[in-house]
Amino acid sequence: MEKWRIKQSPVVKDEFDDSVEYKQCIYDFINKMKHKHDLSAFYRNIKTLEIIPIDKFKLPIQSASAGYNIDFNTILYEEGRLNIDIMHELFHVATTKELDDRFISGFYQITDNNKTIGIGLNEGYTALMDERYFIDYDPNKLENSKNVYSIEKYICILLEGLIGEEEMEDYYMDANLHDLVVEISEYSDRRSAHYFIQLVDKYYKERETKKHPNALTICRTYSKIIYFIAECYLTKAKMLYNNRTISREDYETYVDYVKWLLDQNLHYHKIFRSRKMSKDFDGLNKTVENKIKK
Ligand SMILES: [Zn+2]
Repeated sequence: MEKWRIKQSPVVKDEFDDSVEYKQCIYDFINKMKHKHDLSAFYRNIKTLEIIPIDKFKLPIQSASAGYNIDFNTILYEEGRLNIDIMHELFHVATTKELDDRFISGFYQITDNNKTIGIGLNEGYTALMDERYFIDYDPNKLENSKNVYSIEKYICILLEGLIGEEEMEDYYMDANLHDLVVEISEYSDRRSAHYFIQLVDKYYKERETKKHPNALTICRTYSKIIYFIAECYLTKAKMLYNNRTISREDYETYVDYVKWLLDQNLHYHKIFRSRKMSKDFDGLNKTVENKIKK
């Protein structure tokens, strides 16, 4: 493993000597994260990292105020918002690795048939990490973070409940979507776990990147995601109960949680419910209800 100490390394000093502001952000990121995770990728990437302030209207995605280009190893941020947005982008820098002449970043990966997967989960988890470790980095961050990938973040929190916080952080920092999918498959099957990742991508693309997002597509995709997670929780509860890891009481708590998830889902969709949607819900509810009964 690469050993790197801030004081002794010329890297940060040389690359960032023209901008004290950026250097401080990078120090702050390292100081907070170095005790928890391996930062080899981060140290490698910051050697050539560029951080450029720009006018907000030139950003590629309208709602975003900053972005990291993995191919050019460049962060663009809206002038005046550095401390609000920089840590999110530095997480992208810390999780970006080269793999067969392509770049992967956190849960964002290249599939065997050369397609990309995991952008939704990756943005949600990046926002979650930023919130977990750097929510106090700017006085306006708390308010701002409520609007940053809120649903993707929520999906990641639910997934952490299934997989474990430490494990999820490790998979993310190692840019290891593969093992995450394998672990999710323990409570489902490989194809469904893969499809779940694609659903989060679909949700993200519809909600975050389109000028006129389709509300029905968003609702339907969200529902499928929640039902998948609910089924996984139920399967996990059954596994734990059957091998006597948890008591009957704990099992009932799991089931109550699953029911709560489904209720929340219905609540979320109240505004958008149409007859077609009701049909979807009925079908999905029955599937999960039957599983609860078994
Ligand atoms: Zn991002």
